[in-house]
Amino acid sequence: MGAALIDGRAFAARLRARVADAVPRFVEAAGRAPGLAVVLVGEDPASQIYVRSKGKATVEAGMASFEYRLPDTTSQSELIALVEQLNADEAVDGILVQLPLPAGIDDKAVIDAIDPDKDVDGFHVANAGRLAVGEDGLVSCTPLGCLMLLRDRLGSLSGLEAVVVGRSNIVGKPMAQLLLRENCTVTIAHSRTRDLAEVVRRGDIVVAAVGHPELIKGGWLKPGATVIDVGMNRIALEDGKTRLLGDVEFATAAEVAGAITPVPGGVGPMTIAVLLRNTLVAACARFGLDAPEGL
Ligand code: NDP
Repeated sequence: MGAALIDGRAFAARLRARVADAVPRFVEAAGRAPGLAVVLVGEDPASQIYVRSKGKATVEAGMASFEYRLPDTTSQSELIALVEQLNADEAVDGILVQLPLPAGIDDKAVIDAIDPDKDVDGFHVANAGRLAVGEDGLVSCTPLGCLMLLRDRLGSLSGLEAVVVGRSNIVGKPMAQLLLRENCTVTIAHSRTRDLAEVVRRGDIVVAAVGHPELIKGGWLKPGATVIDVGMNRIALEDGKTRLLGDVEFATAAEVAGAITPVPGGVGPMTIAVLLRNTLVAACARFGLDAPEGL
C-alpha cells in the first residue's frame, strides 16, 4: 500500500476534545450547557444505534442531551408539533430528526419545520441556500467533516481539481459547495455520468458518496490523489457475518492514491464530532457569542 491513511477516528477524537474544552466557556457565559435534542421515530435498528451514540457523545462533551423516541404510528403533524415545541425551547440549541422517517411522513416537511438556527444537521433549505450563496450557516455534518480531513491533509485546496461522485442533498451537493468555497475546480458525477472512470481521473481530490460498494477502482484514480470515501455499505458474508465496505475499492485505490480514508475509521467518526461542533456553534450564535477558535 502506497497511500497514507487518513485517520478520521483520531481526528474526530481531537475535534470532540476541542469541543469539550470549549463548552465550559459557553456555560460560564450562558449559564447553562449547550443542548442537543435528537428525535427518533420508529424502531429502525441502525437509527437506534446512531441516536444512542449521539446522546452518549453529547453528554461526554459536557452538553445536555434531550432524546425523544416516538412510535412509528406518529403522524407528520404530531412530529412537526414536537419540532415546533423544540424550536421554542430555550434549553435546546440544536435539533436533529433522525432520518429516514417512517413511510407516510415527508422528510422535507419535517426538516423545514426546524428553526434554521437550530438545524445542526444543516439540511434545512435555508442552510442549503446560505451555503450555496456563500453566507454563514449550519453545514451538513458529513461533508463538513470531509472538508476538515482534506484541509488537515492538504492545507490549502485552492486550484485543485475535485471530483465529487454523488449529488445527494445531504452529502454530494453540500460537499461540492464546500469545495467550491475552497476555490477547487469542482466536477459532480452521478448515475447518469457517461464515463465515470474518465471523470474520476481528473481529481486531485475524489470524494465518493454513492452507496455502491467498491464502485470506484484504483485504476481510475490520478496517481497521488487524495481520496475521501463516504460510502458505508454493509455487506452480508457467507458465514452470516457482515462487513462494512466503502464506495472505493480500497485495496487497489491504496496503491495509487496519495492518501485515503479507510472504511470504517475514516469519514464515519467525523459525523458525530461535527454534530457536536455544530451544536456548540449554534448555541454560541444564539447567545451572540463568537464561535470558539479552531472549530
Ligand atoms: P444517496 O443514495 O442519496 O445518493 C447517492 C448518489 O450516488 C446519487 O446522487 C446517485 O446519482 C449517485 N450514484 C448512484 N449510483 C451511481 C453510479 N453507478 N455512478 C455514479 N453515481 C452514482 O446517498 P447518500 O448521499 O445519502 O449517501 C452516499 C453514501 O454515503 C452511502 O453509502 C451512505 O451510507 C454514506 N453516508 C455515510 C455517512 C457517514 O459516513 N457518516 C453519512 C451519510 C451517508 P443520481 O442522483 O443520479 O441518482
